[in-house]
Amino acid sequence: MRVVVDLSRCQGYAQCAFLAPDAFRMHGEEALMYSSNPDDAQRHQVLRAAAACPLQAILVDQLEGRDAPVGTSPS
Ligand code: SF4
Repeated sequence: MRVVVDLSRCQGYAQCAFLAPDAFRMHGEEALMYSSNPDDAQRHQVLRAAAACPLQAILVDQLEGRDAPVGTSPS
């Protein structure tokens, strides 16, 4: 699965690191480190983390097959 975090939105609330610690990790107080290609076994946790992010900064599986820039979402 593919994960992108819009770091311009992320405010380091760490909800994602709490819910999916294998995929998201805080580095220091505010810097988020994450896996952009976590194992599918982590899908449930990652989706919960994405849903819990108060800023909707976590995008999951939205870039498959194209090179869309981070942060755009066609509607
Ligand atoms: S939950 Fe959202 S705002 Fe908080 S650290 Fe994760 S991506 Fe950033």
